[in-house]
Amino acid sequence: SMDAIGNRIQQHAQTRRSHPALIDEQGTLDWRSLVDQVNRIANRLREAGLRPGESVAALSGNSRDDVALYLGTLVAGGCMVPLSGMASSEALALMVADCQARFLFVSGQQRELFGRLRAQLTKVPGERIISLAGPLDGAGYSLVDWLAQTTATARPEQVTLDDPFNIIYSSGTTGTPKGILHDYRFRQRQMVRMSRYGLDGEAINLVSTPLYSNTTLVSVLPTLYHGGTLVLMAKFDAHRFLQLAETHRVTHAMLVPVQYQRILAQPDFDRFDLSSFKLKLCTSAPLRSAVIADAMARWPGNLREVYGLTEGGISTSLDCAAHPDKWDSVGVPTQGAEVRVIGEDDRELPRGSNGEIVGRAISMMRGYVNRPELTREMLWTSPEGKVYYRSGDMGRIDEDGFIYILDRRKDMIISGGFNIYPVDLEKVLLSHPAVADATIIGIPSEHWGETPLGLVVLQPDRNETENGILEWANTQLGKSQRLAAIEFRATLPRSAIGKVLKRELRAPYWPGT
Ligand code: ATP
Repeated sequence: SMDAIGNRIQQHAQTRRSHPALIDEQGTLDWRSLVDQVNRIANRLREAGLRPGESVAALSGNSRDDVALYLGTLVAGGCMVPLSGMASSEALALMVADCQARFLFVSGQQRELFGRLRAQLTKVPGERIISLAGPLDGAGYSLVDWLAQTTATARPEQVTLDDPFNIIYSSGTTGTPKGILHDYRFRQRQMVRMSRYGLDGEAINLVSTPLYSNTTLVSVLPTLYHGGTLVLMAKFDAHRFLQLAETHRVTHAMLVPVQYQRILAQPDFDRFDLSSFKLKLCTSAPLRSAVIADAMARWPGNLREVYGLTEGGISTSLDCAAHPDKWDSVGVPTQGAEVRVIGEDDRELPRGSNGEIVGRAISMMRGYVNRPELTREMLWTSPEGKVYYRSGDMGRIDEDGFIYILDRRKDMIISGGFNIYPVDLEKVLLSHPAVADATIIGIPSEHWGETPLGLVVLQPDRNETENGILEWANTQLGKSQRLAAIEFRATLPRSAIGKVLKRELRAPYWPGT
């Protein structure tokens, strides 16, 4: 039988009463106090008409009440729907309608976004919109008023493994949102299994990515499930991260590659005592070997790079200490997972060949909400009849079974019949001492069809020219990889969890597409 998170936290409130559940800028909240707030929210949601399985959407920030809201939704048997603060108001309105949200909660950090969204929420009455931080135009209540007179004891709704746990929308920045539905089976396995990385009741997990992203939830939910401690940053700042890590004797952090770079680049990095760290996790984009080497040398505790999709189904991990010769890879499939590589014709390719990564794992999404055809398109069936998920990523498997991710299939550049993987070119550019940040996109070329363009952010106080960098890079690159041009930029647009928004960068070069 399943030990659901709603029940688990009631136990933590008893057995770990004064153990810190959450630390933020307001101070420390112990398990008893967090669960009291969770239960008030759950009771009030039920009183206000929430039925099991219904969606509770949240324009969330990184505050203690956001955490309480997620858990309160689950205790009430609802399905939590965290909405991205990076999405446009048009996309958000589609998401709220798509998941049939019964309630919408608005964090203090998302007031402005809500202001733009409010007029488009014609189907959500004001009394079902609750502000997490004080009065808000267009919201029926603020949380404090909404919770007045509710009790802090709740009986968690009975759930089964098939019940919905959350919906996470991807492609919030462009295109039509896809709602990824995870059930209790998916999250249950993840929460239980993450304890093998030490994410358990002893964990002190420093959270510096937005709570609404799956990358964040992957480490936050197990920490809560096992009764550990979250240290919440409202917003990432590399120096503050180091201060908090030292002060709170942090053991775990799940970070994205740019965060490693920024943290390691702090001039006083070596003055912080980080000896409490047991494990750092990294996911969402390629982590360069040079950054791994730097982190392994100067930052105590192990480092593990994880590759996966919000959809689930594919999951690999690299233990950086155990495999110093495989830092270019994303490691091997996690327990119970399998990965294969297929070609354009959908046939499996031999080891060492580049193709699309497909995988199967013990945890897969239930499907895209209201999009059965899209869910089916994602599947690949092996000759033996096993079902795999298409990752949309190009990559290969080496002779030892380690998996290398080249690039997103849609970011791959086909130039004069050759496949160019931007990540290879990006590595070269980033190895130049004057280059602070760089990305590669494909632009139209009459001769080649498509050709790579390098967008570069220079380090401060450098006076290299675009042509200088271009000539230098092209001496390092293969003939078929050569860059057409370099353009300097002040910054590169990134998503909430630090991925370069290539679609946005490409758009001006491809008018009419
Ligand atoms: P959207 O659909 O909005 O673009 P997304 O696909 O970025 O969102 P995720 O499901 O979180 O959202 O991202 C999964 C993708 O992230 C993978 O398909 C892969 O391209 C990339 N990725 C994840 N981990 C790694 C890693 N360790 N190394 C390289 N790429 C990674």
